[in-house]
Amino acid sequence: MNKIRIGQGFDVHRLVSGRPLLIGGVKIEFNLGLDGHSDADVLLHAIMDALLGAAGLPDIGQQFPPTDQKYKDADSAELLKGVHAMVRAAGWDRIENIDATIMAERPRMNPHVEAMKKRVAELLAIETDRINIKATTCEQLGFVGREEGIAAMAVCLIGSSG
Ligand SMILES: [Zn+2]
Repeated sequence: MNKIRIGQGFDVHRLVSGRPLLIGGVKIEFNLGLDGHSDADVLLHAIMDALLGAAGLPDIGQQFPPTDQKYKDADSAELLKGVHAMVRAAGWDRIENIDATIMAERPRMNPHVEAMKKRVAELLAIETDRINIKATTCEQLGFVGREEGIAAMAVCLIGSSG
């Protein structure tokens, strides 16, 4: 019997100077970057939590504890591949689709969205048309609007033919 499950993920990182800005596996030139124990790729983190959530597995904070030195400056692209392997090991052999939204006041995300889709699809070894990434500002409201941080959310649908 075919089974499907939905999952959602949300993440936030603080914008600071002296860090690279890496979103969706794509490096974006900007005077600020995202702070975090790993490379702080806010979009890949939201996608990982959506995948783990759909599979009913513990979230990335538990899979890759920030207290563990092993994950200092960790490459989130590699962590995403690891999450995908966990999801497959739990019996979920298909990713139907992923839909994500980045919330950032600056820099503009839209010029980078196509590259992010390609990168995420490549990391998960699925077709690019299964990945959708959107971007919005927050109309200068709240922490995103004040350019203190960048947030991302994602939903995904996974399937099992087993
Ligand atoms: Zn994160």
